[in-house]
Amino acid sequence: MSETLHELVIVGSGPAGYTAGIYAARAQLAPVLYEGSVTAGGALMNTTEVENFPGFPAGIIGPDLMDNLKAQAEKFGSILVRDDIVELQLDGDVKVLKDGSGNVLRAKAVILATGSAYKEIGLENEKRLSGRGVSWCATCDGFFFRNQEIAVVGGGDSAMEEANFLTRFASKVVIIHRRDSLRASKIMVERAQANPKIEFLWNTEVIDVLGAENVSALKLRNTVDGTESERAFTGLFVAIGHTPRSELLVGQVDLDNEGYVKVDGRSTRTNLTGVFACGDLVDHTYRQAITAAGSGCQAALDAERFLAGH
Ligand code: NAP
Repeated sequence: MSETLHELVIVGSGPAGYTAGIYAARAQLAPVLYEGSVTAGGALMNTTEVENFPGFPAGIIGPDLMDNLKAQAEKFGSILVRDDIVELQLDGDVKVLKDGSGNVLRAKAVILATGSAYKEIGLENEKRLSGRGVSWCATCDGFFFRNQEIAVVGGGDSAMEEANFLTRFASKVVIIHRRDSLRASKIMVERAQANPKIEFLWNTEVIDVLGAENVSALKLRNTVDGTESERAFTGLFVAIGHTPRSELLVGQVDLDNEGYVKVDGRSTRTNLTGVFACGDLVDHTYRQAITAAGSGCQAALDAERFLAGH
């Protein structure tokens, strides 16, 4: 267990955290970057081919992209730590952070980049068949469902968007929603309803995912009359929202009512001096690897300017 003082500590290691590390290290801030003990690399570690990250015309495998970003952050002097920050005290001029091994770090500035997590339905077989037909990312995995019949769960904009996108590949996409009206915006609903490959299954919830090796069917329950049925599908896309990973920050920095960290305008400044936030942790809307990387860059520049002025 140690006690050390640093210019900057970065918490989180997705595209936002590593990019903040690249920029901060090049600015000679010797940032300490907490990658997380099990979640190092963030959500992209669970994806296969990333085809839309600029600069890789042939595509790149998600974990390879994260390895590259990590190597680039390390090359310029980021100090990477494969551990979690478990306690934070972010007010005051010197921030105090404690990691999972009991080390205490004091820092003049902190960048928060802990990302977001896809919501899960919460079924045992959903977890077991994850990556074997169950997915949370149409843009990542849609390609594998060419000419197949697949289901999308959810009634928000994400579900409409995922369903529309999936019709490029699938022969049919069935949107399964637990109510009889959608939460999604009008334009997204109209687009989905106009798509001949999309069918809606109303007042229905998924109560089990069936299949030995891969998804073969879903067990469904009607939310009005309680009747149960089974229907064959080879894929299940869960699009029931995201939750920002801000549990540790409750009572520390200002969060909005959905748990995202509030930042000042287009900057990455939080309500606390010297504390910056970036990536999915602040982003309701875009949640792309490239937008997270861009906001990680902004956070490092904001932190650098803050430190130069103090
Ligand atoms: P959302 O708006 O919170 O919608 C989540 C949907 O999932 C709701 O329809 C909800 O049902 C359903 N749901 C939640 N938990 C469920 C469960 N356990 N089982 C079954 N269904 C469940 O989330 P989102 O669609 O991810 O959108 C989040 C934000 O991002 C929104 O502000 C949205 O406008 C924005 N967004 C925008 C775009 C775009 O404009 N292109 C694209 C994606 C997202 P109920 O309706 O019954 O609660």
